[in-house]
Amino acid sequence: MSALKVSNLYRTFGKLKAVNGVSFEIPHGAVCGFVGANGAGKTTTMRIIASLDYPTLGKAEVCGINVVHHPAEVRKLIGWMPDHFGNYEHMTVLEYLDFYARALGYKGAERRQRIEEVMDFTDLGPLASRFSNKLSKGMTQRLGLGRALLHDPQVLIMDEPAAGLDPKARVELKHLIRVLAEEGKTIFISSHILSELGEMCDSLLFINEGRIVHHGDAESLKTGSDAVGGLLYDVQVEGDPQAVSDWCVLQPNVEFLETRKQGGRIRIQSDETGAAADVLARMIKDHLRVTEYHREQRNLEDAFIDILGRLDQGQPAVPPPLPTPPSNN
Ligand code: ATP
Repeated sequence: MSALKVSNLYRTFGKLKAVNGVSFEIPHGAVCGFVGANGAGKTTTMRIIASLDYPTLGKAEVCGINVVHHPAEVRKLIGWMPDHFGNYEHMTVLEYLDFYARALGYKGAERRQRIEEVMDFTDLGPLASRFSNKLSKGMTQRLGLGRALLHDPQVLIMDEPAAGLDPKARVELKHLIRVLAEEGKTIFISSHILSELGEMCDSLLFINEGRIVHHGDAESLKTGSDAVGGLLYDVQVEGDPQAVSDWCVLQPNVEFLETRKQGGRIRIQSDETGAAADVLARMIKDHLRVTEYHREQRNLEDAFIDILGRLDQGQPAVPPPLPTPPSNN
């Protein structure tokens, strides 16, 4: 059973299909990034999963429990961190957490212990007596995370938690998310800034105009194999850089893409990384004096743009697997 399962979900506002037939599953213990432009439908999908809104059609389940039929059960399982939340004036950080711990039904020593654990984890201890509306953005986000963690939920849903944070606060937040993931929590986290998600997520779910356009692992998007097909390598050689393009012309499974310093960028028509080792071995056998040979790292923004471009042209979001090239040996 998955931690989150969304099946054919729709949410319309008048004529607008904010969520337009969304389906996906996230396994227990995974960190999944939910990526899309402003207005793509992320918050609406997350609010439905958090049992704060009803779908027009379709189903959402948290650990197998239907969010519409059993919202109270679902709320015990999830920690919800919205993109904006109010802080109460004249309430300190400690009072704020104490208020929510009481609302969750914690009493006496257990309540004090829970609050202490959460304050330790989010490093809010030194701010215990600070008024909650006098916190910086980063501190406020830590307080929001602390609140969401009070009941030790299995699944954490975070809507744009890094928005507006400075680089240091982002690093701190990423660290906290990593620790929670190591503890085995399932984390579903939205952002429209891809780079900040790539490093911490096991998979990325891309949404565009209410539809899921891709669900894949961040690594394959960054290395290019998922988004463009084939393996992209940067090759540099000693001597005449033209030698790389001349060599590629004679290879059935290697395409020369563009000239770069002392060589060029090539595409190996295979999804197997072993194919790259074979290509390098052939280059050396053919007396190319290779000084640099490394797989290209693309940024995730480019991968997302590629996917949207392919969809615009009526092609699948991800190219079909490449045929196995004939052996050159
Ligand atoms: P952002 O990154 O800006 O937060 P998002 O991907 O979270 O965007 P949503 O907030 O889910 O997007 O909104 C999706 C679409 O639904 C938008 O066009 C938005 O204007 C619309 N929408 C959301 N909530 C409502 C509502 N209560 N009434 C009418 N339209 C709504």
